[in-house]
Amino acid sequence: MSLRFFCQSFVRNDFITLDGVEAHHLLHVMRAKVGEEVILFDNSGFEYAAKIDSIQRTTVKLEVISGQEVNREAPIKVTIAVALPKGDRQRWLVEKCTEIGVHRLIPLKTARSVAEPNHSSIQRLQRFVIEAAKQCGRNRLMEISPAQEISALFKMTTAENQRLFAHPSHDTHPSGDILPRQASDQPVIFAIGPEGGFTEQEVQSAEQHGWQRVTLGNRILRTETAAITAALAAILNPHD
Ligand code: SAH
Repeated sequence: MSLRFFCQSFVRNDFITLDGVEAHHLLHVMRAKVGEEVILFDNSGFEYAAKIDSIQRTTVKLEVISGQEVNREAPIKVTIAVALPKGDRQRWLVEKCTEIGVHRLIPLKTARSVAEPNHSSIQRLQRFVIEAAKQCGRNRLMEISPAQEISALFKMTTAENQRLFAHPSHDTHPSGDILPRQASDQPVIFAIGPEGGFTEQEVQSAEQHGWQRVTLGNRILRTETAAITAALAAILNPHD
């Protein structure tokens, strides 16, 4: 796949100007030259072939040659609501969820959460999504919702979604028994807890709100591993 760059505004015109981080990447990391071709995407589901027309110090003007809709989304809409880990593990989680094809990530505030997501940390996560989408070829960005209290998540999600609450236990179903065997249009939402786990009260509240408890195997996974495992189980399952 050719080099891909993300446009914040929709690519409509014959010419488009890249600036900011994307122009920096093109100019100073890739050392692009006038006349070279790249791929642009703009979160519309389309991708565009474009040729570098001219270069300024911090901006690049490109001529859009052609555009086509290319769908590299997963066959099922998966939302991961997760109590984010800290530091690099947060970045890893967001990057892998984007690559795997997760539709939406909701940073979850729980009793034992360690990272407190705010506006600027969410913006940072959005940058990781863009970097991963450039690399993996997605033409739609994984959505990052504003951080949400777990009680609000329980209230807002309805039975239109398959609601799965990941909690280690010996007596609950392995997730494979619950996820659809056939390709399905029903979106799936997983709740994944922090390193300290969900509290007993959170577990009970999930059940009262109609969430199904699932395990992800006999081993205790770190939060980010649990999120990836859950996403893969849902996304790959219809193709079994
Ligand atoms: N000591 C905690 C472990 C937390 S692991 C506890 O016993 O609950 C972090 C989160 O990852 C958990 O809250 C859960 O959502 C998910 N998770 C990790 N391993 C899991 C497993 N084997 N089955 C289901 N969920 C798991």
